[in-house]
Amino acid sequence: MHSVAQALEIVLANVHPLPPTPTPLGPETLGQVLAEDVVSDLDMPPFDKAMMDGFALRSTDLRDGHAELTIIEEIPSGKTPTKTVGAQQTSRIMTGAPIPDGADAVVMIERCEIAGNTVRVNEPRIKPRLNILDRAKEMRVGETVLHAGTRLRPQELGLLAAVGQTTPKLRPAPRVAVLSTGDEIVASNVKPGPGQIRNSNGMMLLGQVQRAGGVPTFLGIARDDAAHLRSKIEEGLKFDVLILSGGVSAGKLDLVPGVLAELGVEALFHKVAMKPGKPVLFGVRPSHPRPHSPDGERGGMAVFGLPGNPVSSLVCFELFVRPAIRKLMALEPGPQWIKATLTKDFPYRTDRPTYHPARLTMSDAGWTVEPTPWFGSPDLRGILAANAFVLLPEGDHQHRAGDVLMVLCVEKD
Ligand code: AMP
Ligand code: MG
Repeated sequence: MHSVAQALEIVLANVHPLPPTPTPLGPETLGQVLAEDVVSDLDMPPFDKAMMDGFALRSTDLRDGHAELTIIEEIPSGKTPTKTVGAQQTSRIMTGAPIPDGADAVVMIERCEIAGNTVRVNEPRIKPRLNILDRAKEMRVGETVLHAGTRLRPQELGLLAAVGQTTPKLRPAPRVAVLSTGDEIVASNVKPGPGQIRNSNGMMLLGQVQRAGGVPTFLGIARDDAAHLRSKIEEGLKFDVLILSGGVSAGKLDLVPGVLAELGVEALFHKVAMKPGKPVLFGVRPSHPRPHSPDGERGGMAVFGLPGNPVSSLVCFELFVRPAIRKLMALEPGPQWIKATLTKDFPYRTDRPTYHPARLTMSDAGWTVEPTPWFGSPDLRGILAANAFVLLPEGDHQHRAGDVLMVLCVEKD
């Protein structure tokens, strides 16, 4: 049986960033990764630019900060100046407008007194280039302004817009199919009959996919019937990632591993030493057409068979599926670990490393962690109070308040 670290290593060795795709720039590309360098197609600003509303003038015309100048033109933003500012002359200018020839400074309007077509200026701090932003101060035409591998934040979106890159090449968000399995599982809009339970994993996993940056699709509930399961899995194999929940352990009706094998999915692990969890399957289908590429480019796809109990599913997703989704997007895969100080004594005995729901808090003393009440892998409600999982090593341990433990963060970016 693999450790969590070994299993994660296998996952990451077998998924690779998706091929770069020209993508329309928009808020939905936030968090995606640039696949190529971006070069500016212009100088920014494209001209020497006024930083203030006021008067463009020759700084040498001021004596001890004073001058009386003749107004020769008004330059609103968006207009090109037509007159050269000569000695004892000035042009009224708005913020963002181009500086007229001849002028080398702008005096803000608050330091000017207008009388007809003359203006009295009082600016003791006058100096050349005052209130002027030089052409190309921010970027020069031909300059590389963003590098491949950059993750798009709002400021990167703004810069791409500024250089006219409306369809940058990005690593696409993986398309991820979610398939629930089990004869006892019914849709959440149905009142469960005897022996039935509502499908909670489906909705939860869709949310986890979305939070991880993937594009989720729900494929429904497959019955514990090889033919039905097979047809549902075939649908799922058209995506970049297929996530199944339930049916992966060793019971008579745990048909997932067999059907996956029949469909050419090679299982690379099937059990991991952890709690909650243990039956968790990861497999790859070596070559299939990419849903993204119109020209039918081929690449491997990943399949995860997660345990049916909701908390096991959730934890296994965060440990193995989220890193895969992030690697497909060329992001740092994680997961994120934080060392935190236990706030109370917590003796705990377990035969496998256990990811126990916990509340992680930043305080003056640094990160602290408090395990939250929980009765085990079916207890989804029990993890509502948690925002992390504290890792409790196998064995019989007297964890004491003040001990430092590793915590799996699931809610930090
Ligand atoms: P399995 O892994 O299929 O043996 O399922 C383990 C446990 O998880 C069983 O009690 C199932 O009823 C429960 N379970 C499986 N799938 C789901 C689901 N989609 N939503 C909620 N519980 C589930
Ligand atoms: Mg089942």
